[in-house]
Amino acid sequence: MTAPLPTDPAPTDAPQRGEVQRDTLVRWLNEYLRVNQISDVSMNGLQIEGTGTVRRVAASVDTSVKTLQHAADSGADLLLVHHGLFWGEPLPVTGPHRERLRVAISADLNLYAAHLPLDAHPEVGNSAMIARALSLQNARPFAAWMGTEAGVYGELPFEQSLQDFADRIQKLTGEICLVHGGGIPTVGRVGIVSGSGAGHIAEAAALGLDTLLTGEPEHKHFSDAFEYRVNVVYAGHYETEVFGVRALAAKLEEEFGLPWQFLHHPTGL
Ligand SMILES: [Zn+2]
Repeated sequence: MTAPLPTDPAPTDAPQRGEVQRDTLVRWLNEYLRVNQISDVSMNGLQIEGTGTVRRVAASVDTSVKTLQHAADSGADLLLVHHGLFWGEPLPVTGPHRERLRVAISADLNLYAAHLPLDAHPEVGNSAMIARALSLQNARPFAAWMGTEAGVYGELPFEQSLQDFADRIQKLTGEICLVHGGGIPTVGRVGIVSGSGAGHIAEAAALGLDTLLTGEPEHKHFSDAFEYRVNVVYAGHYETEVFGVRALAAKLEEEFGLPWQFLHHPTGL
């Protein structure tokens, strides 16, 4: 065995790993997530401009005074979120909205939001990450919302009872699921829609899926599970959306050598 060769020193003009210019990072994120190609009600991309050099990243599902303050206290230069501050409505800079901006700006913290582009992303998306955790086979996109398919469906490598499947999801998220057993008691063909996916029960039935795994229940879709004969496992809006921001932050570490931290602020919803 020969000893490994020492690696060449990096050329002096090469960007140093462990830090990146904010504008470079934002360009990379916009491109990687196809932010400009995906219609959404969320204003995806850089929502608050902070320091020009990013050395540390925090990731969180939601934006609130709490998550912004936590990010600032953790020494992060950029907070990566799934749910940002802007949802298609003009907002006066008053009350909690003002306080959120104040916390971020006084800490020189960048805020980057990726909503639908992160639900739907084939590599680091919420649905894709859950599909991978379940070893879903032949994963294909479905569940279009605003023209983008945010869900993934496919087959489990082995069939299991609905109870065992729900237990598995509970282990994955750490939270108790709500199960509406409208379909057959054996789970094999599964659709996954992170967040609010109850509106896709009919589509799941049309695709021949026996089970839909999503986040948040919606009262108006209660009967759909039983009348379309699809099992629906509600694992929590928050709990199904921790996967994307974590995977994206890990991707930034891989690309740019940036250390990151997940800020867990569960909502119980
Ligand atoms: Zn969501």
